[in-house]
Amino acid sequence: MYSLVINSGSSSVKFQIVDPASDAASEPFVSGLVEQIGEPAGRITIKHGGEKDTFELPVPNHTVGLQKAFAMLDDKGIGPGQLDITAVGHRVVHGGMVFSEPELISDPVVEKIRELIPLAPLHNPANIDGIEVARELLPDIPHVAVFDTGFFRHLPPAAAVYAINAEVASQNQIRRYGFHGTSHEFVSSQVPGIIGREPEHTRQIVLHLGNGASCSAVENGRPIDTSMGLTPLAGLVMGTRCGDIDPGIIFHLVRQGGLDIDEIDNLLNRRSGVKGLSGVNDFRELRAMIDNEDKDAFMAYNVYIHQLRRYIGSYMIALGRVDAITFTAGVGENDRFVRWDALENLEMYGIKLDAERNAAPNDGPRIISADDSAVKVLVVPTNEELAIAQKAARVAQRQGARA
Ligand code: ADP
Repeated sequence: MYSLVINSGSSSVKFQIVDPASDAASEPFVSGLVEQIGEPAGRITIKHGGEKDTFELPVPNHTVGLQKAFAMLDDKGIGPGQLDITAVGHRVVHGGMVFSEPELISDPVVEKIRELIPLAPLHNPANIDGIEVARELLPDIPHVAVFDTGFFRHLPPAAAVYAINAEVASQNQIRRYGFHGTSHEFVSSQVPGIIGREPEHTRQIVLHLGNGASCSAVENGRPIDTSMGLTPLAGLVMGTRCGDIDPGIIFHLVRQGGLDIDEIDNLLNRRSGVKGLSGVNDFRELRAMIDNEDKDAFMAYNVYIHQLRRYIGSYMIALGRVDAITFTAGVGENDRFVRWDALENLEMYGIKLDAERNAAPNDGPRIISADDSAVKVLVVPTNEELAIAQKAARVAQRQGARA
Protein backbone atom coordinates (compact mmCIF):
# COMPACT_ATOMS: atom_id res chain seq x y z
CA MET A 1 0.00 0.00 0.00
CA TYR A 2 1.41 3.35 -1.07
CA SER A 3 0.61 7.04 -1.13
CA LEU A 4 1.67 9.27 -4.00
CA VAL A 5 2.91 12.63 -2.68
CA ILE A 6 2.97 15.62 -5.03
CA ASN A 7 4.71 18.94 -4.38
CA SER A 8 3.99 21.13 -7.35
CA GLY A 9 5.93 24.36 -7.89
CA SER A 10 5.67 26.96 -10.64
CA SER A 11 8.29 25.36 -12.90
CA SER A 12 8.82 21.97 -11.26
CA VAL A 13 6.92 19.06 -9.75
CA LYS A 14 8.44 16.79 -7.10
CA PHE A 15 6.73 13.52 -6.35
CA GLN A 16 7.28 10.42 -4.25
CA ILE A 17 5.59 7.07 -3.96
CA VAL A 18 5.85 6.21 -0.29
CA ASP A 19 4.70 3.42 1.98
CA PRO A 20 3.05 5.41 4.80
CA ALA A 21 4.13 2.71 7.27
CA SER A 22 7.84 3.12 6.45
CA ASP A 23 10.21 4.80 8.86
CA ALA A 24 11.34 8.40 8.55
CA ALA A 25 14.91 7.57 7.59
CA SER A 26 14.13 5.12 4.79
CA GLU A 27 14.32 6.02 1.10
CA PRO A 28 10.97 6.44 -0.64
CA PHE A 29 9.93 3.59 -2.97
CA VAL A 30 10.09 6.02 -5.88
CA SER A 31 11.02 9.68 -6.06
CA GLY A 32 10.83 11.90 -9.09
CA LEU A 33 11.42 15.44 -10.22
CA VAL A 34 10.09 17.22 -13.30
CA GLU A 35 12.10 20.39 -13.89
CA GLN A 36 12.16 23.44 -16.12
CA ILE A 37 8.53 23.16 -17.07
CA GLY A 38 7.66 25.62 -19.84
CA GLU A 39 11.27 26.08 -20.91
CA PRO A 40 12.82 24.80 -24.16
CA ALA A 41 14.90 22.15 -22.35
CA GLY A 42 13.21 20.21 -19.54
CA ARG A 43 14.29 17.27 -17.44
CA ILE A 44 12.62 14.36 -15.65
CA THR A 45 14.57 12.44 -13.02
CA ILE A 46 13.35 9.23 -11.44
CA LYS A 47 14.97 7.37 -8.54
CA HIS A 48 13.99 3.83 -7.64
CA GLY A 49 15.80 0.90 -6.05
CA GLY A 50 19.12 2.73 -5.80
CA GLU A 51 19.08 3.69 -9.49
CA LYS A 52 18.63 7.12 -10.99
CA ASP A 53 17.34 7.76 -14.53
CA THR A 54 17.43 11.17 -16.12
CA PHE A 55 15.52 12.09 -19.26
CA GLU A 56 16.12 15.35 -21.09
CA LEU A 57 13.04 16.47 -22.99
CA PRO A 58 10.92 19.58 -23.35
CA VAL A 59 8.10 19.71 -20.79
CA PRO A 60 5.62 22.34 -21.98
CA ASN A 61 3.35 22.17 -18.93
CA HIS A 62 2.57 20.32 -15.68
CA THR A 63 0.14 17.93 -17.42
CA VAL A 64 2.71 16.72 -19.93
CA GLY A 65 5.36 16.56 -17.18
CA LEU A 66 3.38 14.25 -14.91
CA GLN A 67 2.02 12.23 -17.86
CA LYS A 68 5.53 11.54 -19.11
CA ALA A 69 6.87 10.79 -15.65
CA PHE A 70 4.04 8.33 -14.99
CA ALA A 71 4.61 6.71 -18.42
CA MET A 72 8.29 6.23 -17.52
CA LEU A 73 7.25 4.59 -14.26
CA ASP A 74 4.79 2.38 -16.20
CA ASP A 75 7.66 1.16 -18.39
CA LYS A 76 9.44 0.00 -15.26
CA GLY A 77 6.30 -1.67 -13.93
CA ILE A 78 6.02 0.78 -11.04
CA GLY A 79 3.49 3.26 -12.46
CA PRO A 80 0.76 4.66 -10.24
CA GLY A 81 -1.78 2.45 -12.07
CA GLN A 82 0.31 -0.66 -11.43
CA LEU A 83 0.80 -0.17 -7.70
CA ASP A 84 -1.68 -0.27 -4.85
CA ILE A 85 -1.88 3.51 -4.33
CA THR A 86 -4.65 4.37 -1.90
CA ALA A 87 -4.22 8.14 -1.70
CA VAL A 88 -2.59 11.09 -3.42
CA GLY A 89 -1.33 13.73 -0.97
CA HIS A 90 -0.74 17.25 -2.26
CA ARG A 91 1.42 19.74 -0.44
CA VAL A 92 -0.43 23.07 -0.41
CA VAL A 93 1.48 26.04 0.96
CA HIS A 94 -1.29 28.32 2.18
CA GLY A 95 -4.46 27.20 3.89
CA GLY A 96 -5.20 30.69 5.28
CA MET A 97 -7.76 30.77 8.07
CA VAL A 98 -9.79 28.15 6.21
CA PHE A 99 -7.86 24.90 6.56
CA SER A 100 -6.21 23.40 9.61
CA GLU A 101 -6.63 19.70 8.86
CA PRO A 102 -5.79 17.74 5.70
CA GLU A 103 -8.77 17.97 3.36
CA LEU A 104 -10.24 15.48 0.91
CA ILE A 105 -10.07 17.35 -2.40
CA SER A 106 -13.28 18.15 -4.27
CA ASP A 107 -14.12 20.97 -6.70
CA PRO A 108 -15.28 23.28 -3.85
CA VAL A 109 -12.02 22.61 -1.94
CA VAL A 110 -9.99 23.56 -5.04
CA GLU A 111 -12.06 26.76 -5.27
CA LYS A 112 -11.27 27.62 -1.64
CA ILE A 113 -7.54 27.04 -2.26
CA ARG A 114 -7.88 29.32 -5.28
CA GLU A 115 -9.48 32.03 -3.13
CA LEU A 116 -6.33 31.97 -0.97
CA ILE A 117 -4.05 32.86 -3.92
CA PRO A 118 -3.66 36.49 -2.75
CA LEU A 119 -1.93 35.13 0.39
CA ALA A 120 0.52 32.95 -1.59
CA PRO A 121 0.57 34.32 -5.13
CA LEU A 122 3.55 32.22 -6.22
CA HIS A 123 2.79 28.96 -4.44
CA ASN A 124 -0.94 28.26 -4.36
CA PRO A 125 -1.45 28.56 -8.17
CA ALA A 126 1.35 26.04 -8.74
CA ASN A 127 -0.12 23.74 -6.07
CA ILE A 128 -3.52 23.95 -7.80
CA ASP A 129 -1.93 23.07 -11.16
CA GLY A 130 -0.50 19.92 -9.57
CA ILE A 131 -3.86 19.02 -8.03
CA GLU A 132 -5.78 19.49 -11.27
CA VAL A 133 -3.36 17.50 -13.37
CA ALA A 134 -3.10 14.65 -10.89
CA ARG A 135 -6.88 14.44 -10.45
CA GLU A 136 -7.23 14.17 -14.21
CA LEU A 137 -4.56 11.47 -14.50
CA LEU A 138 -5.68 9.51 -11.42
CA PRO A 139 -9.43 10.14 -11.12
CA ASP A 140 -10.25 7.01 -9.11
CA ILE A 141 -7.90 7.63 -6.19
CA PRO A 142 -8.82 10.04 -3.35
CA HIS A 143 -6.72 13.22 -3.42
CA VAL A 144 -5.92 15.01 -0.18
CA ALA A 145 -4.56 18.52 0.38
CA VAL A 146 -2.08 18.92 3.25
CA PHE A 147 -1.42 22.52 4.25
CA ASP A 148 1.93 23.97 5.31
CA THR A 149 0.07 26.43 7.54
CA GLY A 150 -2.36 23.85 8.98
CA PHE A 151 -0.57 23.02 12.24
CA PHE A 152 -0.42 26.73 13.14
CA ARG A 153 -4.03 27.58 12.28
CA HIS A 154 -5.02 27.90 15.94
CA LEU A 155 -2.07 29.90 17.29
CA PRO A 156 -3.10 31.96 20.32
CA PRO A 157 -4.25 35.40 19.12
CA ALA A 158 -1.49 37.22 21.01
CA ALA A 159 1.08 35.33 18.94
CA ALA A 160 -0.81 35.53 15.65
CA VAL A 161 -1.92 39.17 15.59
CA TYR A 162 0.45 41.86 14.29
CA ALA A 163 0.30 45.25 15.99
CA ILE A 164 -0.74 47.12 12.88
CA ASN A 165 -4.03 48.90 12.31
CA ALA A 166 -6.67 46.25 12.96
CA GLU A 167 -8.99 47.35 10.15
CA VAL A 168 -6.24 47.34 7.52
CA ALA A 169 -4.95 44.00 8.80
CA SER A 170 -8.38 42.45 8.61
CA GLN A 171 -9.11 43.81 5.10
CA ASN A 172 -5.86 42.27 3.90
CA GLN A 173 -5.99 39.02 5.92
CA ILE A 174 -2.73 39.99 7.62
CA ARG A 175 -1.74 37.80 10.56
CA ARG A 176 0.90 35.22 11.46
CA TYR A 177 0.09 31.98 9.62
CA GLY A 178 3.37 30.08 10.05
CA PHE A 179 4.83 27.53 7.60
CA HIS A 180 6.72 24.20 7.70
CA GLY A 181 3.74 23.06 9.81
CA THR A 182 3.90 19.49 8.53
CA SER A 183 7.49 19.22 9.73
CA HIS A 184 6.92 20.90 13.11
CA GLU A 185 3.98 18.59 13.76
CA PHE A 186 5.79 15.46 12.56
CA VAL A 187 8.88 16.16 14.68
CA SER A 188 7.16 17.50 17.81
CA SER A 189 4.81 14.51 17.89
CA GLN A 190 7.78 12.11 18.15
CA VAL A 191 9.56 13.91 20.97
CA PRO A 192 7.41 12.87 23.96
CA GLY A 193 7.91 9.18 23.14
CA ILE A 194 11.68 9.60 22.87
CA ILE A 195 12.06 11.45 26.17
CA GLY A 196 9.45 9.37 28.00
CA ARG A 197 6.83 12.05 28.71
CA GLU A 198 3.11 12.24 28.06
CA PRO A 199 2.41 14.35 24.94
CA GLU A 200 -0.13 16.38 26.90
CA HIS A 201 2.54 17.30 29.44
CA THR A 202 5.40 18.20 27.12
CA ARG A 203 6.63 21.71 26.41
CA GLN A 204 9.08 21.93 23.58
CA ILE A 205 10.91 24.04 21.05
CA VAL A 206 11.41 22.72 17.50
CA LEU A 207 14.15 24.21 15.35
CA HIS A 208 13.60 23.36 11.67
CA LEU A 209 16.88 24.48 10.10
CA GLY A 210 17.01 23.72 6.39
CA ASN A 211 17.57 26.09 3.54
CA GLY A 212 14.35 27.67 4.77
CA ALA A 213 14.33 27.80 8.58
CA SER A 214 11.68 28.25 11.23
CA CYS A 215 11.12 27.45 14.87
CA SER A 216 8.07 26.78 16.98
CA ALA A 217 7.08 26.59 20.62
CA VAL A 218 4.76 23.65 21.23
CA GLU A 219 2.85 23.20 24.48
CA ASN A 220 1.15 19.86 25.07
CA GLY A 221 0.88 19.12 21.34
CA ARG A 222 -0.36 22.58 20.32
CA PRO A 223 1.85 25.31 18.87
CA ILE A 224 1.80 28.56 20.83
CA ASP A 225 4.21 30.49 18.62
CA THR A 226 6.23 30.18 15.43
CA SER A 227 8.78 32.33 13.67
CA MET A 228 7.40 32.53 10.12
CA GLY A 229 4.58 34.97 9.63
CA LEU A 230 2.23 36.15 6.89
CA THR A 231 4.90 34.76 4.55
CA PRO A 232 7.87 32.40 4.93
CA LEU A 233 10.24 35.39 4.86
CA ALA A 234 9.99 36.15 8.59
CA GLY A 235 11.86 34.83 11.60
CA LEU A 236 15.22 33.09 11.57
CA VAL A 237 18.08 33.96 9.23
CA MET A 238 17.85 31.45 6.36
CA GLY A 239 19.92 30.25 3.41
CA THR A 240 18.86 33.11 1.15
CA ARG A 241 16.06 34.85 3.13
CA CYS A 242 16.66 37.65 5.58
CA GLY A 243 14.30 36.59 8.38
CA ASP A 244 13.15 39.35 10.75
CA ILE A 245 14.29 42.82 9.75
CA ASP A 246 13.16 46.33 10.60
CA PRO A 247 10.22 46.93 8.20
CA GLY A 248 11.54 50.49 7.84
CA ILE A 249 14.36 49.01 5.72
CA ILE A 250 11.84 48.48 2.93
CA PHE A 251 10.80 52.19 2.86
CA HIS A 252 14.46 53.13 2.97
CA LEU A 253 15.25 50.88 0.00
CA VAL A 254 12.44 52.48 -1.98
CA ARG A 255 13.15 56.09 -1.03
CA GLN A 256 16.95 56.07 -0.84
CA GLY A 257 17.97 52.93 -2.71
CA GLY A 258 15.65 53.45 -5.69
CA LEU A 259 14.53 49.80 -5.69
CA ASP A 260 11.02 48.80 -6.72
CA ILE A 261 8.85 46.25 -4.94
CA ASP A 262 9.85 43.30 -7.14
CA GLU A 263 13.52 44.09 -6.69
CA ILE A 264 13.09 44.23 -2.92
CA ASP A 265 11.14 40.97 -2.96
CA ASN A 266 13.98 39.33 -4.88
CA LEU A 267 16.63 40.90 -2.63
CA LEU A 268 15.07 39.76 0.65
CA ASN A 269 13.98 36.29 -0.54
CA ARG A 270 16.88 35.24 -2.77
CA ARG A 271 19.90 37.45 -2.19
CA SER A 272 19.90 37.82 1.59
CA GLY A 273 20.32 35.53 4.61
CA VAL A 274 23.55 33.56 4.89
CA LYS A 275 24.08 33.87 1.14
CA GLY A 276 23.66 37.63 1.16
CA LEU A 277 26.36 37.96 3.82
CA SER A 278 28.82 35.30 2.66
CA GLY A 279 28.07 34.41 -0.96
CA VAL A 280 27.02 30.82 -0.17
CA ASN A 281 23.88 29.33 1.35
CA ASP A 282 24.99 25.75 1.88
CA PHE A 283 26.32 25.24 5.43
CA ARG A 284 28.95 22.77 4.25
CA GLU A 285 30.47 25.47 2.05
CA LEU A 286 30.05 28.05 4.78
CA ARG A 287 31.98 25.82 7.22
CA ALA A 288 34.79 25.32 4.70
CA MET A 289 35.04 29.10 4.29
CA ILE A 290 35.09 29.62 8.06
CA ASP A 291 37.86 27.04 8.33
CA ASN A 292 39.76 29.17 5.80
CA GLU A 293 39.21 32.23 8.01
CA ASP A 294 36.86 33.94 5.59
CA LYS A 295 35.57 36.98 7.51
CA ASP A 296 32.26 37.25 5.62
CA ALA A 297 31.45 33.61 6.28
CA PHE A 298 32.24 34.07 9.96
CA MET A 299 29.98 37.14 10.11
CA ALA A 300 27.13 35.31 8.34
CA TYR A 301 27.43 32.42 10.78
CA ASN A 302 27.47 34.68 13.83
CA VAL A 303 24.40 36.60 12.65
CA TYR A 304 22.63 33.28 12.01
CA ILE A 305 23.46 31.92 15.46
CA HIS A 306 22.61 35.18 17.25
CA GLN A 307 19.13 35.24 15.72
CA LEU A 308 18.61 31.56 16.53
CA ARG A 309 19.50 32.14 20.19
CA ARG A 310 17.16 35.13 20.34
CA TYR A 311 14.27 32.91 19.31
CA ILE A 312 15.24 30.06 21.63
CA GLY A 313 15.37 32.53 24.52
CA SER A 314 12.02 34.08 23.76
CA TYR A 315 10.30 30.72 23.34
CA MET A 316 11.73 29.50 26.66
CA ILE A 317 10.00 32.46 28.31
CA ALA A 318 6.78 31.93 26.31
CA LEU A 319 6.65 28.28 27.42
CA GLY A 320 7.69 28.93 31.02
CA ARG A 321 9.20 25.46 31.34
CA VAL A 322 10.91 23.57 28.54
CA ASP A 323 11.20 19.79 28.42
CA ALA A 324 12.87 19.45 25.03
CA ILE A 325 14.62 21.37 22.29
CA THR A 326 14.80 19.52 18.97
CA PHE A 327 16.88 20.15 15.88
CA THR A 328 15.66 19.00 12.49
CA ALA A 329 16.08 19.48 8.66
CA GLY A 330 19.33 19.64 6.65
CA VAL A 331 21.33 21.96 8.90
CA GLY A 332 19.71 20.92 12.19
CA GLU A 333 20.26 17.21 11.55
CA ASN A 334 23.79 17.45 10.21
CA ASP A 335 25.63 20.50 11.51
CA ARG A 336 27.01 19.84 14.97
CA PHE A 337 28.61 23.28 15.15
CA VAL A 338 25.27 25.03 14.71
CA ARG A 339 23.70 22.86 17.43
CA TRP A 340 26.57 23.48 19.81
CA ASP A 341 26.73 27.23 19.26
CA ALA A 342 22.95 27.62 19.45
CA LEU A 343 22.89 26.16 22.98
CA GLU A 344 26.33 26.94 24.37
CA ASN A 345 26.59 28.37 27.91
CA LEU A 346 22.96 27.79 28.83
CA GLU A 347 23.65 25.47 31.79
CA MET A 348 22.00 27.94 34.14
CA TYR A 349 18.77 27.35 32.18
CA GLY A 350 19.12 23.58 32.50
CA ILE A 351 20.50 23.06 28.99
CA LYS A 352 23.68 21.01 28.66
CA LEU A 353 24.81 19.28 25.48
CA ASP A 354 26.97 16.16 25.47
CA ALA A 355 29.84 16.86 23.06
CA GLU A 356 30.23 13.26 21.95
CA ARG A 357 26.52 12.66 21.38
CA ASN A 358 26.28 15.95 19.51
CA ALA A 359 29.15 14.97 17.22
CA ALA A 360 27.73 11.52 16.35
CA PRO A 361 26.67 11.11 12.71
CA ASN A 362 23.05 11.70 11.71
CA ASP A 363 21.47 8.33 12.31
CA GLY A 364 17.80 8.61 13.23
CA PRO A 365 16.17 10.27 16.23
CA ARG A 366 18.49 10.69 19.20
CA ILE A 367 19.13 12.60 22.41
CA ILE A 368 22.28 14.75 22.37
CA SER A 369 22.05 16.40 25.80
CA ALA A 370 24.01 15.24 28.83
CA ASP A 371 22.26 12.88 31.25
CA ASP A 372 22.05 15.64 33.86
CA SER A 373 20.57 18.21 31.45
CA ALA A 374 17.12 19.21 32.75
CA VAL A 375 16.08 20.15 29.22
CA LYS A 376 16.50 17.25 26.79
CA VAL A 377 18.08 18.22 23.48
CA LEU A 378 17.32 16.03 20.49
CA VAL A 379 17.94 15.54 16.80
CA VAL A 380 14.86 14.15 15.05
CA PRO A 381 15.06 13.80 11.25
CA THR A 382 12.08 15.31 9.52
CA ASN A 383 10.38 13.76 6.51
CA GLU A 384 7.66 16.00 5.17
CA GLU A 385 6.77 13.68 2.28
CA LEU A 386 6.26 10.74 4.62
CA ALA A 387 4.13 12.93 6.91
CA ILE A 388 1.99 14.00 3.92
CA ALA A 389 1.75 10.36 2.78
CA GLN A 390 0.52 9.32 6.23
CA LYS A 391 -2.02 12.13 6.46
CA ALA A 392 -3.34 11.45 2.96
CA ALA A 393 -3.65 7.72 3.66
CA ARG A 394 -5.55 8.43 6.89
CA VAL A 395 -8.02 10.79 5.23
CA ALA A 396 -8.56 8.35 2.35
CA GLN A 397 -9.13 5.48 4.75
CA ARG A 398 -11.66 7.50 6.75
CA GLN A 399 -13.41 8.42 3.52
CA GLY A 400 -13.43 4.76 2.42
CA ALA A 401 -14.94 3.70 5.73
CA ARG A 402 -17.66 6.31 5.34
CA ALA A 403 -18.50 5.41 1.73
P1 ADP B 1 15.07 22.60 2.23
O1 ADP B 1 14.09 21.45 2.35
O2 ADP B 1 14.68 23.82 2.99
O3 ADP B 1 15.55 22.88 0.86
P2 ADP B 1 16.92 20.89 3.70
O4 ADP B 1 16.22 20.62 4.97
O5 ADP B 1 17.09 19.77 2.73
O6 ADP B 1 16.36 22.17 2.98
O7 ADP B 1 18.35 21.48 4.06
C1 ADP B 1 19.26 21.81 3.05
C2 ADP B 1 20.45 22.47 3.71
O8 ADP B 1 20.98 21.61 4.71
C3 ADP B 1 21.61 22.71 2.76
O9 ADP B 1 21.48 23.94 2.07
C4 ADP B 1 22.80 22.72 3.69
O10 ADP B 1 22.99 24.04 4.17
C5 ADP B 1 22.37 21.87 4.87
N1 ADP B 1 23.08 20.60 4.94
C6 ADP B 1 22.81 19.45 4.31
N2 ADP B 1 23.70 18.49 4.64
C7 ADP B 1 24.58 19.05 5.52
C8 ADP B 1 25.72 18.60 6.23
N3 ADP B 1 26.16 17.33 6.12
N4 ADP B 1 26.35 19.48 7.04
C9 ADP B 1 25.91 20.74 7.17
N5 ADP B 1 24.83 21.23 6.52
C10 ADP B 1 24.18 20.41 5.71
